[in-house]
Amino acid sequence: MVRVTVWNENRHEKNNPVVGGIYPNGIHGAIADFLTKAGFEVGTATLDEPEHGLTEQVLNQTDVLIWWGHLAHHEVEDSIVDKVYQRVLKGMGLIVLHSGHASKIFSKLLGTPTGQLKWREADEKERIWVIDPAHPIASGLGEYIELQQEEMYGEHFNIPTPDQLVFVSWFEGGEVFRSGVTYHRGQGKVFYFRPGHETYPTYYNKEIQKVIENGVRWAVPSQTAEPVYGNAAPLEPIKSKPYSREVTEI
Ligand code: ZN
Repeated sequence: MVRVTVWNENRHEKNNPVVGGIYPNGIHGAIADFLTKAGFEVGTATLDEPEHGLTEQVLNQTDVLIWWGHLAHHEVEDSIVDKVYQRVLKGMGLIVLHSGHASKIFSKLLGTPTGQLKWREADEKERIWVIDPAHPIASGLGEYIELQQEEMYGEHFNIPTPDQLVFVSWFEGGEVFRSGVTYHRGQGKVFYFRPGHETYPTYYNKEIQKVIENGVRWAVPSQTAEPVYGNAAPLEPIKSKPYSREVTEI
């Protein structure tokens, strides 16, 4: 069974009654609910727990980690970010949601200041277009997903060119955004998915749930041998030939 840990900073839910009303069990609780129903073995972890809930044991028993953060990226300990980073390089899948674009872990994995984008809170419509209909993360979807109200994120989004571009969002105010992108880092797979501003009930939307479920299945670690780096002995005897500087004339 695929083991998923849903990590959430869980601050808006406590500080803002609107968010607490939409997500009484936290954003992590809502995501854990639909992933459990989808058949995954799901645990949750939050910022204020010791080690942010991401102990060595939890990380070692996680196949796919989901990350939601916004207000408190700077409160996430670098030592924990390093542990998550190492686990991703060893094969743990990572799904970064919405404002997690500005998290330490996403920036570290991508190597760019990923917090850079445009944004606006204006209750506007978002249409998320499927750009790669053959991609497993888009499985079961129509041509697009429509959300009646969301926060706008707009280009330019300062990410490296993605390995795969799965979704592009259009917003009522005119901007577009690469809202579903994937990367391989070491043995691990990383999926960023944009929707999920805390003041909207986005994670109750069935199609959004479907994308996250698909993302978990896609990000499950591959059972590939760990790569070996550094000086390597030859696998077969190398027949030595006299070194020649002669240039073959054509
Ligand atoms: Zn937001």
